[in-house]
Amino acid sequence: YAKSSGKRTYALFTPSMHTSAMDRLRLDAELRHAIDNDQLELFYQPILALGTGQVTGVEALLRWRHPTRGLLVPPVFLPIAEESDLGVRIGTWVLRTACRQVAQWCREPGREQFRMSVNVSNRQFWQGRLIEDVINCLDAYGLDPGCLALEITEGVIMHDVRQATQLLAGLSEMGVEVHIDDFGTGYSSLEALHDLPFAALKIDRSFVSRMTTSPRSRELVRTIVTMGLNLDLQVIAEGIETSEELDLVRRLGCTHGQGYLYSRPVPSDECTKYLAEQRETTVGHR
Ligand code: C2E
Ligand code: MG
Ligand code: MG
Ligand code: MG
Repeated sequence: YAKSSGKRTYALFTPSMHTSAMDRLRLDAELRHAIDNDQLELFYQPILALGTGQVTGVEALLRWRHPTRGLLVPPVFLPIAEESDLGVRIGTWVLRTACRQVAQWCREPGREQFRMSVNVSNRQFWQGRLIEDVINCLDAYGLDPGCLALEITEGVIMHDVRQATQLLAGLSEMGVEVHIDDFGTGYSSLEALHDLPFAALKIDRSFVSRMTTSPRSRELVRTIVTMGLNLDLQVIAEGIETSEELDLVRRLGCTHGQGYLYSRPVPSDECTKYLAEQRETTVGHR
């Protein structure tokens, strides 16, 4: 029971049957206030090429520095935001902030190939003006489209495959990569995937963590990786926590990985330091 377990905060923000209409209204109001008062922040988690160990980019992950409840993660508040126009507003803010940041990081010599991955919500994809938003952001920060990847889940795409295909085509014609997030957890048909212009599959953490103990999961991952490689896609393993997991995803052929083993998602200044250190060690190894 939420109250007695001390998890009241989480329960309050979880859009379940137990969340009252009052709680939702309050959260909605607090979130609107949060946007206008700089309480939203992006953390960044490095993504590495498993072959070379080089950081090839980062994923932007949203955080809410709530004045009384501490640092909140997206599953706690994004579902409520997605019930209204807030979903699009937050998405636009995320995109702009991430583009501004990567423009800065890409200015460093030797980091021209660096890529920022940004998660796109259902509302942002279907009700926002995604293409316009992207063009505006690239323009505003003089960003090479190749420095941006948008992560979209199967579920969002399958909502209307035909229209999604057009949207994705628009993005990839611009040179912005599309990555399918949480791959394997949704219900995409292979036929639908066939026509979709995307550049990477992200294997969900649930597979990566089960893989070391479950031969079935391992075979599933192997199948996904083989398919991805045959389609000439990057295959990114999410949530690598142990060296055993790293070893396995590498052996199965995943091209990229991210996870706590390398780094947790960290604030931008910490990530700047991480990137600087990483470059020195990579250079030192040559
Ligand atoms: P995701 O896009 O699949 O992001 C990966 C999640 O796994 C992140 O959780 C990340 O912190 C976590 N993670 C990464 N490596 C590890 C690991 O080794 N172990 C464990 N236990 N976890 C790991 P986070 O930041 O809580 O985000 C959760 C989800 O919220 C994301 O899943 C994404 O769907 C959504 N999200 C995050 N930021 C945004 C955003 O800016 N916009 C939108 N629309 N959704 C976002
Ligand atoms: Mg993601
Ligand atoms: Mg993911
Ligand atoms: Mg995931």
